[in-house]
Amino acid sequence: MKIVTILGARPQFIKAGTVSREIEKYNEIEEIIVHTGQHYDANMSDIFFDEMKIPKPHYNLDINGLGHGAMTGQMLEKIEEVLEKEKPDWVMVYGDTNSTLAGALAASKLHIKVAHIEAGLRSFNMKMPEEINRILTDRISTILFCPTQSAVDNLNSEGYNNLDISIVQNGDVMQDGAIFYKDLAVASNIELNNKYILSTIHRAENTDDIERLIAIVSALNEIAKEIQIVLPLHPRTKAILEKNDLEVNCTIIDPVGYLEMVGLIKNAKLIMTDSGGLQKEAFFFEKPCITLRDETEWIELVENRFNVLAGASREKIIDLYKHFDFNDEFSMNLYGAGTASKIIVKELLK
Ligand code: UDP
Repeated sequence: MKIVTILGARPQFIKAGTVSREIEKYNEIEEIIVHTGQHYDANMSDIFFDEMKIPKPHYNLDINGLGHGAMTGQMLEKIEEVLEKEKPDWVMVYGDTNSTLAGALAASKLHIKVAHIEAGLRSFNMKMPEEINRILTDRISTILFCPTQSAVDNLNSEGYNNLDISIVQNGDVMQDGAIFYKDLAVASNIELNNKYILSTIHRAENTDDIERLIAIVSALNEIAKEIQIVLPLHPRTKAILEKNDLEVNCTIIDPVGYLEMVGLIKNAKLIMTDSGGLQKEAFFFEKPCITLRDETEWIELVENRFNVLAGASREKIIDLYKHFDFNDEFSMNLYGAGTASKIIVKELLK
Protein backbone atom coordinates (compact mmCIF):
# COMPACT_ATOMS: atom_id res chain seq x y z
CA MET A 1 0.00 0.00 0.00
CA LYS A 2 1.27 3.43 -0.88
CA ILE A 3 0.38 6.57 1.05
CA VAL A 4 1.21 10.13 0.07
CA THR A 5 1.21 12.47 3.08
CA ILE A 6 0.79 16.20 2.47
CA LEU A 7 2.27 18.54 5.08
CA GLY A 8 2.86 22.27 5.17
CA ALA A 9 3.92 23.45 8.61
CA ARG A 10 6.21 22.41 11.44
CA PRO A 11 3.42 21.34 13.87
CA GLN A 12 1.96 19.18 11.09
CA PHE A 13 5.31 17.41 10.65
CA ILE A 14 5.50 16.76 14.38
CA LYS A 15 1.99 15.27 14.45
CA ALA A 16 2.47 13.28 11.24
CA GLY A 17 5.73 11.92 12.65
CA THR A 18 3.78 9.87 15.17
CA VAL A 19 1.93 8.17 12.32
CA SER A 20 5.08 7.79 10.18
CA ARG A 21 6.86 5.99 13.03
CA GLU A 22 3.92 3.61 13.21
CA ILE A 23 3.88 3.11 9.42
CA GLU A 24 7.58 2.24 9.51
CA LYS A 25 6.67 -0.92 11.45
CA TYR A 26 4.86 -2.31 8.41
CA ASN A 27 6.91 -3.49 5.42
CA GLU A 28 3.82 -3.52 3.26
CA ILE A 29 3.27 0.25 3.52
CA GLU A 30 5.30 2.87 1.70
CA GLU A 31 4.87 6.49 2.74
CA ILE A 32 5.87 9.39 0.50
CA ILE A 33 5.95 12.75 2.31
CA VAL A 34 5.30 16.00 0.45
CA HIS A 35 6.21 19.35 2.04
CA THR A 36 4.23 22.09 0.32
CA GLY A 37 6.44 24.78 1.85
CA GLN A 38 3.38 26.69 3.12
CA HIS A 39 5.19 27.80 6.26
CA TYR A 40 8.78 28.49 5.34
CA ASP A 41 10.72 27.66 8.46
CA ALA A 42 14.46 28.09 8.77
CA ASN A 43 14.33 25.78 11.81
CA MET A 44 13.35 22.83 9.66
CA SER A 45 16.85 21.77 8.75
CA ASP A 46 18.05 18.16 8.73
CA ILE A 47 18.77 18.50 12.47
CA PHE A 48 15.08 19.12 13.14
CA PHE A 49 14.08 15.85 11.47
CA ASP A 50 16.88 13.88 13.15
CA GLU A 51 16.19 15.28 16.63
CA MET A 52 12.47 14.80 16.32
CA LYS A 53 12.82 11.30 14.81
CA ILE A 54 10.67 12.30 11.86
CA PRO A 55 11.25 11.11 8.28
CA LYS A 56 12.37 13.85 5.89
CA PRO A 57 10.06 14.89 3.04
CA HIS A 58 10.57 13.28 -0.37
CA TYR A 59 9.21 16.33 -2.20
CA ASN A 60 9.58 20.04 -1.38
CA LEU A 61 7.13 22.11 -3.40
CA ASP A 62 8.41 25.41 -1.99
CA ILE A 63 5.10 27.26 -2.28
CA ASN A 64 4.90 30.13 0.20
CA GLY A 65 4.51 33.87 0.59
CA LEU A 66 1.31 34.03 -1.49
CA GLY A 67 -2.32 34.97 -0.79
CA HIS A 68 -4.73 32.19 0.14
CA GLY A 69 -6.08 31.70 -3.39
CA ALA A 70 -2.74 31.73 -5.21
CA MET A 71 -1.16 29.50 -2.58
CA THR A 72 -3.94 26.92 -2.57
CA GLY A 73 -4.13 27.02 -6.39
CA GLN A 74 -0.40 26.43 -6.87
CA MET A 75 -0.45 23.62 -4.33
CA LEU A 76 -3.36 21.98 -6.10
CA GLU A 77 -1.45 21.99 -9.38
CA LYS A 78 1.84 20.71 -7.93
CA ILE A 79 0.26 18.09 -5.66
CA GLU A 80 -1.70 16.76 -8.62
CA GLU A 81 1.59 16.25 -10.50
CA VAL A 82 3.03 14.32 -7.56
CA LEU A 83 -0.07 12.15 -7.24
CA GLU A 84 -0.12 11.37 -10.96
CA LYS A 85 3.48 10.22 -10.71
CA GLU A 86 3.26 8.32 -7.41
CA LYS A 87 -0.24 6.81 -7.90
CA PRO A 88 -0.89 6.24 -4.18
CA ASP A 89 -3.76 4.25 -2.67
CA TRP A 90 -4.30 6.93 -0.04
CA VAL A 91 -3.56 10.60 0.49
CA MET A 92 -3.20 11.56 4.12
CA VAL A 93 -3.81 15.14 5.27
CA TYR A 94 -3.70 16.72 8.73
CA GLY A 95 -5.61 19.50 10.39
CA ASP A 96 -6.79 22.66 8.73
CA THR A 97 -4.16 24.47 6.66
CA ASN A 98 -4.29 25.42 2.97
CA SER A 99 -2.00 22.41 2.39
CA THR A 100 -4.66 20.18 3.97
CA LEU A 101 -7.37 21.44 1.63
CA ALA A 102 -5.16 21.42 -1.47
CA GLY A 103 -4.04 17.84 -0.75
CA ALA A 104 -7.58 16.57 -0.21
CA LEU A 105 -8.91 18.37 -3.29
CA ALA A 106 -6.14 17.19 -5.62
CA ALA A 107 -6.62 13.60 -4.43
CA SER A 108 -10.40 13.53 -4.57
CA LYS A 109 -10.44 14.86 -8.16
CA LEU A 110 -8.14 11.99 -9.12
CA HIS A 111 -10.41 9.54 -7.24
CA ILE A 112 -7.68 8.75 -4.74
CA LYS A 113 -8.93 7.95 -1.24
CA VAL A 114 -8.38 10.69 1.34
CA ALA A 115 -7.72 10.14 5.04
CA HIS A 116 -8.23 13.33 7.08
CA ILE A 117 -6.59 13.27 10.47
CA GLU A 118 -7.84 15.73 13.13
CA ALA A 119 -11.22 15.79 11.39
CA GLY A 120 -14.55 17.10 12.66
CA LEU A 121 -13.16 20.05 14.62
CA ARG A 122 -15.15 23.26 14.43
CA SER A 123 -14.72 26.73 15.91
CA PHE A 124 -18.00 27.88 14.26
CA ASN A 125 -16.15 31.01 13.21
CA MET A 126 -16.27 31.21 9.42
CA LYS A 127 -13.87 34.15 9.42
CA MET A 128 -11.05 31.75 10.31
CA PRO A 129 -9.35 30.40 7.17
CA GLU A 130 -8.78 27.19 9.17
CA GLU A 131 -12.54 26.70 9.63
CA ILE A 132 -13.14 26.87 5.87
CA ASN A 133 -10.31 24.41 5.24
CA ARG A 134 -11.64 21.96 7.83
CA ILE A 135 -15.21 21.94 6.58
CA LEU A 136 -14.27 21.49 2.92
CA THR A 137 -11.62 18.84 3.62
CA ASP A 138 -13.97 16.77 5.77
CA ARG A 139 -16.63 16.76 3.03
CA ILE A 140 -14.34 15.35 0.31
CA SER A 141 -12.52 12.77 2.44
CA THR A 142 -13.02 9.01 2.44
CA ILE A 143 -12.28 8.45 6.10
CA LEU A 144 -12.35 10.98 8.93
CA PHE A 145 -10.15 10.35 11.96
CA CYS A 146 -11.63 12.35 14.82
CA PRO A 147 -9.61 13.16 17.92
CA THR A 148 -12.57 13.71 20.24
CA GLN A 149 -16.21 12.81 20.87
CA SER A 150 -17.15 16.45 20.21
CA ALA A 151 -15.55 16.20 16.75
CA VAL A 152 -17.71 13.12 16.00
CA ASP A 153 -20.77 14.98 17.33
CA ASN A 154 -20.02 17.95 15.05
CA LEU A 155 -19.94 15.67 12.01
CA ASN A 156 -23.14 13.90 12.97
CA SER A 157 -24.95 17.18 13.47
CA GLU A 158 -23.85 18.19 9.95
CA GLY A 159 -25.45 14.98 8.60
CA TYR A 160 -22.27 12.98 8.02
CA ASN A 161 -23.96 9.82 9.30
CA ASN A 162 -25.99 9.94 6.06
CA LEU A 163 -22.92 10.21 3.84
CA ASP A 164 -20.66 7.51 2.45
CA ILE A 165 -17.74 8.68 4.60
CA SER A 166 -16.26 6.59 7.42
CA ILE A 167 -15.92 8.23 10.80
CA VAL A 168 -13.43 6.82 13.32
CA GLN A 169 -12.78 8.30 16.74
CA ASN A 170 -9.13 7.41 17.09
CA GLY A 171 -7.91 9.89 19.71
CA ASP A 172 -5.40 12.65 19.22
CA VAL A 173 -2.06 12.10 17.50
CA MET A 174 -0.69 14.92 19.67
CA GLN A 175 -1.32 12.76 22.72
CA ASP A 176 0.85 10.05 21.12
CA GLY A 177 3.46 12.73 20.44
CA ALA A 178 3.38 14.01 24.02
CA ILE A 179 4.09 10.50 25.31
CA PHE A 180 6.90 10.01 22.78
CA TYR A 181 8.60 13.37 23.37
CA LYS A 182 8.10 13.59 27.14
CA ASP A 183 11.44 11.98 27.92
CA LEU A 184 13.28 13.56 24.99
CA ALA A 185 12.55 17.10 26.26
CA VAL A 186 15.58 19.32 26.76
CA ALA A 187 16.09 21.96 29.43
CA SER A 188 16.03 25.58 28.36
CA ASN A 189 19.14 27.65 29.02
CA ILE A 190 17.14 30.79 29.81
CA GLU A 191 16.99 31.94 33.40
CA LEU A 192 13.78 30.61 34.89
CA ASN A 193 12.22 31.30 38.24
CA ASN A 194 10.82 28.44 40.20
CA LYS A 195 7.31 29.41 39.13
CA TYR A 196 6.58 30.87 35.73
CA ILE A 197 3.82 31.18 33.17
CA LEU A 198 4.52 30.06 29.60
CA SER A 199 2.73 32.17 27.01
CA THR A 200 2.44 32.29 23.21
CA ILE A 201 0.54 34.76 21.01
CA HIS A 202 0.49 34.30 17.27
CA ARG A 203 -3.05 34.05 15.92
CA ALA A 204 -4.06 36.60 13.29
CA GLU A 205 -7.22 37.45 15.26
CA ASN A 206 -4.96 38.75 18.06
CA THR A 207 -1.93 40.07 16.19
CA ASP A 208 -3.83 41.81 13.39
CA ASP A 209 -6.32 43.51 15.72
CA ILE A 210 -4.30 46.09 17.58
CA GLU A 211 -6.99 46.65 20.24
CA ARG A 212 -6.88 42.96 21.15
CA LEU A 213 -3.10 42.87 21.15
CA ILE A 214 -2.88 45.94 23.41
CA ALA A 215 -5.35 44.40 25.87
CA ILE A 216 -3.49 41.08 25.99
CA VAL A 217 -0.08 42.73 26.40
CA SER A 218 -1.44 45.00 29.11
CA ALA A 219 -2.83 41.97 31.01
CA LEU A 220 0.47 40.10 30.67
CA ASN A 221 2.40 43.13 31.94
CA GLU A 222 0.13 43.34 34.98
CA ILE A 223 0.42 39.62 35.79
CA ALA A 224 4.20 39.74 35.20
CA LYS A 225 4.49 42.01 38.24
CA GLU A 226 3.67 38.89 40.31
CA ILE A 227 5.13 35.98 38.37
CA GLN A 228 7.64 35.50 35.57
CA ILE A 229 6.04 35.14 32.13
CA VAL A 230 8.13 33.40 29.48
CA LEU A 231 7.08 34.41 25.99
CA PRO A 232 8.67 32.67 22.98
CA LEU A 233 7.82 35.37 20.48
CA HIS A 234 6.46 34.50 17.05
CA PRO A 235 8.09 36.67 14.32
CA ARG A 236 4.73 38.08 13.22
CA THR A 237 3.83 39.15 16.75
CA LYS A 238 7.32 40.57 17.24
CA ALA A 239 7.05 42.72 14.13
CA ILE A 240 3.63 44.11 15.12
CA LEU A 241 4.73 44.85 18.70
CA GLU A 242 7.77 46.73 17.39
CA LYS A 243 5.79 48.64 14.78
CA ASN A 244 3.34 49.83 17.44
CA ASP A 245 5.97 50.50 20.11
CA LEU A 246 4.26 48.13 22.52
CA GLU A 247 6.39 47.31 25.51
CA VAL A 248 6.16 43.79 26.93
CA ASN A 249 7.62 43.24 30.39
CA CYS A 250 7.96 39.49 30.04
CA THR A 251 10.93 37.20 29.51
CA ILE A 252 10.88 37.40 25.72
CA ILE A 253 12.78 34.69 23.89
CA ASP A 254 13.01 33.61 20.25
CA PRO A 255 10.72 30.73 19.22
CA VAL A 256 12.20 27.52 20.59
CA GLY A 257 12.62 24.05 19.17
CA TYR A 258 9.92 21.57 20.09
CA LEU A 259 12.00 19.55 22.55
CA GLU A 260 12.84 22.75 24.45
CA MET A 261 9.19 23.78 24.25
CA VAL A 262 8.15 20.51 25.90
CA GLY A 263 10.74 21.19 28.61
CA LEU A 264 9.26 24.66 29.17
CA ILE A 265 5.69 23.30 29.32
CA LYS A 266 6.64 20.54 31.76
CA ASN A 267 8.04 23.01 34.30
CA ALA A 268 5.52 25.83 33.90
CA LYS A 269 2.88 26.70 36.49
CA LEU A 270 0.29 27.83 33.97
CA ILE A 271 -0.05 28.25 30.20
CA MET A 272 -1.57 31.35 28.54
CA THR A 273 -1.93 30.98 24.80
CA ASP A 274 -3.92 31.45 21.62
CA SER A 275 -2.38 28.31 20.09
CA GLY A 276 -4.59 25.28 19.51
CA GLY A 277 -1.81 22.76 19.98
CA LEU A 278 -0.50 24.31 23.16
CA GLN A 279 -3.95 24.16 24.81
CA LYS A 280 -3.81 20.40 24.52
CA GLU A 281 -0.16 20.12 25.46
CA ALA A 282 -1.03 22.01 28.66
CA PHE A 283 -3.49 19.21 29.45
CA PHE A 284 -1.10 16.41 28.44
CA PHE A 285 1.52 17.83 30.81
CA GLU A 286 -1.06 18.56 33.52
CA LYS A 287 -0.98 22.36 33.47
CA PRO A 288 -3.97 24.71 33.68
CA CYS A 289 -4.48 26.91 30.62
CA ILE A 290 -5.96 30.35 30.00
CA THR A 291 -6.85 30.66 26.33
CA LEU A 292 -6.53 34.07 24.72
CA ARG A 293 -9.31 33.45 22.22
CA ASP A 294 -13.10 33.82 22.14
CA GLU A 295 -13.66 30.21 21.16
CA THR A 296 -11.80 26.93 21.00
CA GLU A 297 -12.04 23.71 19.06
CA TRP A 298 -11.03 21.84 22.24
CA ILE A 299 -14.26 22.40 24.14
CA GLU A 300 -13.85 19.33 26.37
CA LEU A 301 -10.96 21.13 28.08
CA VAL A 302 -13.21 24.10 28.82
CA GLU A 303 -16.21 21.96 29.83
CA ASN A 304 -14.00 20.14 32.34
CA ARG A 305 -12.33 23.35 33.64
CA PHE A 306 -8.80 22.45 32.56
CA ASN A 307 -8.92 25.47 30.29
CA VAL A 308 -10.79 28.75 30.38
CA LEU A 309 -11.52 31.20 27.57
CA ALA A 310 -10.40 34.73 28.38
CA GLY A 311 -10.73 36.26 24.91
CA ALA A 312 -8.72 39.46 24.68
CA SER A 313 -10.17 41.32 27.66
CA ARG A 314 -7.50 42.76 29.97
CA GLU A 315 -9.74 42.54 33.07
CA LYS A 316 -10.98 39.04 32.30
CA ILE A 317 -7.47 37.67 31.75
CA ILE A 318 -6.25 39.12 35.06
CA ASP A 319 -9.38 38.03 36.92
CA LEU A 320 -9.22 34.45 35.61
CA TYR A 321 -5.52 34.26 36.46
CA LYS A 322 -6.28 35.32 40.03
CA HIS A 323 -9.55 33.52 40.72
CA PHE A 324 -10.42 30.73 38.28
CA ASP A 325 -10.98 27.35 39.94
CA PHE A 326 -9.13 24.98 37.58
CA ASN A 327 -9.73 21.25 37.65
CA ASP A 328 -6.60 19.33 38.62
CA GLU A 329 -7.85 15.79 37.90
CA PHE A 330 -5.75 15.43 34.77
CA SER A 331 -6.17 11.66 34.67
CA MET A 332 -9.38 12.09 32.58
CA ASN A 333 -9.06 10.40 29.20
CA LEU A 334 -10.15 13.08 26.73
CA TYR A 335 -7.81 12.40 23.80
CA GLY A 336 -7.36 8.64 23.64
CA ALA A 337 -4.79 6.43 25.27
CA GLY A 338 -1.82 7.37 23.10
CA THR A 339 -2.93 4.88 20.43
CA ALA A 340 -4.26 7.36 17.85
CA SER A 341 -1.55 6.54 15.29
CA LYS A 342 -1.92 2.77 15.73
CA ILE A 343 -5.66 3.03 15.07
CA ILE A 344 -5.10 5.10 11.91
CA VAL A 345 -2.68 2.59 10.39
CA LYS A 346 -4.85 -0.42 11.33
CA GLU A 347 -7.90 1.23 9.71
CA LEU A 348 -6.05 2.05 6.49
CA LEU A 349 -4.84 -1.55 6.24
CA LYS A 350 -8.40 -2.93 6.50
N1 UDP B 1 5.83 25.54 19.62
C1 UDP B 1 7.21 25.34 19.63
N2 UDP B 1 8.03 26.41 19.83
C2 UDP B 1 7.56 27.68 20.01
C3 UDP B 1 6.15 27.87 19.98
C4 UDP B 1 5.31 26.78 19.77
O1 UDP B 1 7.68 24.22 19.48
O2 UDP B 1 8.36 28.59 20.19
C5 UDP B 1 4.94 24.38 19.41
C6 UDP B 1 3.82 24.23 20.41
O3 UDP B 1 4.26 23.55 21.56
C7 UDP B 1 2.77 23.47 19.64
C8 UDP B 1 2.96 23.99 18.24
O4 UDP B 1 4.27 24.55 18.18
O5 UDP B 1 3.02 22.10 19.62
C9 UDP B 1 1.86 24.97 18.03
O6 UDP B 1 2.07 25.71 16.97
P1 UDP B 1 1.27 27.04 16.76
O7 UDP B 1 1.03 27.71 18.08
O8 UDP B 1 2.01 27.79 15.71
O9 UDP B 1 -0.05 26.57 16.07
P2 UDP B 1 -1.47 26.01 16.41
O10 UDP B 1 -1.35 24.90 17.39
O11 UDP B 1 -2.31 27.12 16.92
O12 UDP B 1 -1.92 25.54 15.07
